[in-house]
Amino acid sequence: MSIPFIDLKTQYRQVEEAVKKGIDGVLEHGAYIMGPEIPELEAKLAEFSQTDFGVGCASGTDALLMALMAQGVGRGDAIFTTPFTFIATAEVVSLLGATPVFVDIDPVTYNIDPDDLRRKISYVRNNRADLKAKGVISVDIFGQPADYDAIEPMVHNSGLFLIVDAAQSFGAVYKGRPVCSIGDMACTSFFPAKPLGCYGDGGMVFCHSEEARTLLHSIRVHGMGLDKYDNDRIGINGRIDSIQAAVLLAKFAIFPGELTKRQEVADRYAALLSSIDGLTPPVIAEGSASAWAQYCVLARDTEHRTECMEKLKEAGVPSVIYYPKPLHLQKAFKSLGYAEGDFPIAENVAGRIFALPMHPYLAAEDQEAVVSPLAG
Ligand SMILES: *Cc1c(COP(=O)(O)O)cnc(C)c1O
Repeated sequence: MSIPFIDLKTQYRQVEEAVKKGIDGVLEHGAYIMGPEIPELEAKLAEFSQTDFGVGCASGTDALLMALMAQGVGRGDAIFTTPFTFIATAEVVSLLGATPVFVDIDPVTYNIDPDDLRRKISYVRNNRADLKAKGVISVDIFGQPADYDAIEPMVHNSGLFLIVDAAQSFGAVYKGRPVCSIGDMACTSFFPAKPLGCYGDGGMVFCHSEEARTLLHSIRVHGMGLDKYDNDRIGINGRIDSIQAAVLLAKFAIFPGELTKRQEVADRYAALLSSIDGLTPPVIAEGSASAWAQYCVLARDTEHRTECMEKLKEAGVPSVIYYPKPLHLQKAFKSLGYAEGDFPIAENVAGRIFALPMHPYLAAEDQEAVVSPLAG
């Protein structure tokens, strides 16, 4: 028996015809760059997210980079975010010469802890004359929305901006609000393994004003002005390919149904895991719906995690650790001067967490086969 961690082949069977037709359409019309599929996708995903505008781009990383550039982030700016995320969230901050300031996470949702965020903002204001508190990047880790009722007023009363890193949470909802409608800008990724994935790299920034959209359009194409060879600012080559937009249009048609299926898979896991001692299943906050990018459980400690993952491996079940090393302990961020012990919750969770197979097409009997090696 072999259970894939994420089953993109079964999904492909559902959309094969539409994907081929979409790609064929691009090959026929020949607008490989900025073809008509892109505005169509932007409009559809903005509408689905109950927000104003979407700007397609080359990856989730570029989405974050473009959003920070649109906010004018540069040297001397402090950007607050969590150390328990994929490297890209903080990497783009450093790439612009700004300084990531890490904030510990909530022990239940693993998302940025609003109380620690308040402390870190005032720490920077009172103790770091070299830095200007400028903005916050919240991350909806594993697909679960962050605590926006606590974060949004704090961020705005402090005069900061809020960027939502929704790379894992496209389709998630916070108290009736799709996550990509939250914040000054929200960024998502269409990397193949994300809830809505293409067949390559892709991403999107969501924003609320014509002005922000125009600015993002300019940043996306080398800072262009009204004319293509007018350059108003420094930008990037951040376009999404027409072919990837065509793939996404085909896959988006089945995406709402897939979200429902992911929730069913999560519910079945929760029921199966309830009888297993020492493993903590994910807890979704009241009023939130996760996009279930990952289904992560907490072991008692690191040794227990190793045992569990060994048992799964013996049974032919893949499992993965997201994320084994918090960002403040990464060599790439050594110059920030953090040390072990600085973010006790993030470090504790990183030492205990592991992810089980999760995708919309996971059958009930396969889930039983995933969980049974963990019993006893
Ligand atoms: C995947 C991911 C990104 C980066 O997206 P890419 O499309 O791979 O560039 C950023 N942030 C988080 C939280 C992610 O999971």
